[in-house]
Amino acid sequence: MRWTQTFIPTLKETPAEAEITSHKLLLRAGLARRLAGGLYTFLPLGLRVLRKIEAIIREEMNRAGALEVAMPCLQPPEIWQKSGRYQDMSEVLYHVYDRAKKEWLLGPTHEENITVLVASEINSYRQLPKNFYQITVKFRDEIRPRFGLMRAREFVMKDAYSFDVDERSAEVSYQKMYDAYVRIFERCGLRTIAVEAHTGAIGGSFSHEFMVPAESGENEIAFCESGKYAANVEKAVSQGPLIPTPTASTGASPEKFPTPGVLTIEALAQPPYNVPAHHQIKTLVYIVESKPVVLLLRGDDQLNEAKLAGALGTVLLRPATPEEIYELLGAHPGSLGAVGVTHVPVYADLALRGAAGMTTGANQDGFHLRHVDIARDIKVTRWLDLRTVKAGELCLATGLPLKISRAIEVGHIFKLGTKYSEKLGAVFLDEQGRPRPAVMGCYGIGVTRTLQAIIEQSNDKDGIIWPMSVAPYTVCITPLDVTPGGRIMSIAEQIYRQLIESGVDAILDDRDERPGVKFKDSELVGFPIRVAVGEKSLANEQVEIKPRAGQLMLVHKTEAVNRVLELIKRAN
Ligand code: ATP
Ligand code: MG
Repeated sequence: MRWTQTFIPTLKETPAEAEITSHKLLLRAGLARRLAGGLYTFLPLGLRVLRKIEAIIREEMNRAGALEVAMPCLQPPEIWQKSGRYQDMSEVLYHVYDRAKKEWLLGPTHEENITVLVASEINSYRQLPKNFYQITVKFRDEIRPRFGLMRAREFVMKDAYSFDVDERSAEVSYQKMYDAYVRIFERCGLRTIAVEAHTGAIGGSFSHEFMVPAESGENEIAFCESGKYAANVEKAVSQGPLIPTPTASTGASPEKFPTPGVLTIEALAQPPYNVPAHHQIKTLVYIVESKPVVLLLRGDDQLNEAKLAGALGTVLLRPATPEEIYELLGAHPGSLGAVGVTHVPVYADLALRGAAGMTTGANQDGFHLRHVDIARDIKVTRWLDLRTVKAGELCLATGLPLKISRAIEVGHIFKLGTKYSEKLGAVFLDEQGRPRPAVMGCYGIGVTRTLQAIIEQSNDKDGIIWPMSVAPYTVCITPLDVTPGGRIMSIAEQIYRQLIESGVDAILDDRDERPGVKFKDSELVGFPIRVAVGEKSLANEQVEIKPRAGQLMLVHKTEAVNRVLELIKRAN
């Protein structure tokens, strides 16, 4: 390709819409343009990257035995009502209406669609296992579309769905996808960590997320340096708080004392009270499926809502309002406690087991209680793991300190079980002729998010540093004088032609621009290798080869193509 014949509208200035590095570079390198919030047009260079990522995914899916299909984006709402997700995913569903005012949905995902297909086409164990995948556009009415392709309203996803005769076979299918994902991200030049994850609204029993560590990520992951344990912080566990919970009773009974204006754990830790946070019991009230529950944590711990939802098996929960709390406990947040509370279930975090000599709210505004021994003074209905792990706490598996990092989720795999096959009738006859629901798994990769995550992970002050495998062009040939028929241009054209003939994706920067402009642009776009042909080096019959993230080399002009081919070979 010749630069003047394609379309690479690079930008010197960063558009105001972009906050994070990868979003800025996506726009500045001329890969994509915003149409409206969460909607992007891919330009020729961006589309080339997208197609290369898709090709890697397709190869690995096929290698793992998955079968490519293509399902409609437009879906009938009836199948969503049947699965229960017309309600459960209502927040992200886009509704459209046809001329007869009939409603349709724009697919945010395709479990319903594929399960309906399998229900009508597969009826014997002999036809299983099967894994179907597609690479298509998904639509989600996100509360906050942002960061460019990272959280869009319309984005490209690879989604796969496996159907098996039983749990054990489903685990084999799951492992195949896990392994395929590791290969896919490796081949895309992306460092990911596979973490244990919650299953959320998709449902199911078991799942892993593939995370790209990045400051701009919307997730937090906890991981052990040994590589033996990694989990989304929503799910992560540790050996517990670094400072042990006090367990020595003062022997005294709970004693009320005035704490006017003290509404936080921090305030009670200050003079004149000086009660360390880990000597306090934090009391929260939640409404779970419209019923109140009291939650207790150590004062220095944070509630992990995902753990609460997981333990109670529902996503229908929210913090109670101050009015609801006052009606329930007779006090406002800041003065709450569970001593003597018997009319509401009390769920306590495991780190509070055996806690004694603690301080907590008195359920009277402006008062707290001290000398509280949890076993003696509080009626705990259930002990649950409710706390959020902190960096430095010790790993349960290895005893080493856990690290916490922000991360971008690029892929997610679930063991679904039979939730969808039961609801949508994906039943087959087993060897004994008995009807059984297929055991399912589902596997997603955010393809457009992956593209931007690669940029987020691989860049420097000058621009993007594309891994060879997904670069829009692998080599950029930069003649510093483009006079047609001139020596410089002829040599550049020759190198360009030979590279193309060797099967290399090459682009010839044939613009009549100053060298500085051309160098800056090729660095901004991030071509992995640049070959510069100019008067100065040609005086010694040499050209300059510059790997985007490496040292400049001067090589004889007849050696240039071979050296480039070597560099490419070495990267693969
Ligand atoms: P998130 O928690 O980021 O909203 P999710 O759990 O809703 O993701 P899945 O339903 O598992 O996502 O979808 C599979 C993959 O699709 C995700 O791992 C992510 O890479 C991608 N994805 C999800 N939502 C978006 C979006 N709004 N824009 C771009 N990619 C997305
Ligand atoms: Mg989501």
